[in-house]
Amino acid sequence: MSEAYQKPIPIMQPWSEGFWKGTKEHKLLIQECNECKKKIFYPRKACPKCWSSDLGWAEASGKANVYTYTIMKDMVEAKFAPDLPYVLAIVRLEEGVNMMTRIVECDPEEVTFDMDVEVVFEDITDECTLPFFRPVKR
Ligand SMILES: [Zn+2]
Repeated sequence: MSEAYQKPIPIMQPWSEGFWKGTKEHKLLIQECNECKKKIFYPRKACPKCWSSDLGWAEASGKANVYTYTIMKDMVEAKFAPDLPYVLAIVRLEEGVNMMTRIVECDPEEVTFDMDVEVVFEDITDECTLPFFRPVKR
């Protein structure tokens, strides 16, 4: 796993560490402002609504739908070329925040706007796990 992974690995910052500790345990955590209760993603140092720095973590359901997407077919960094074609998407979580991710475990041509998706975790190294989304089986 560790030796084989050639693609960029996210850099953990003090304010995003909780998110990455969550994915490591296959939990999707998003920040929640303890003052105004706003749900926040991506991880930040302060609430974008009320500027409070009193932020906590809440586990998201992992349910989302496809807000927008593109199918990557060419012109990507060489390290990502073996993955082509793949779907780069912004999904809207049930909790109301948007997340940039990939849609996996399906033919890229099957992806549609508003499609129901659910989180799935990929352990890319011993320390890092990435959240991706796959279509909800009907
Ligand atoms: Zn707030």
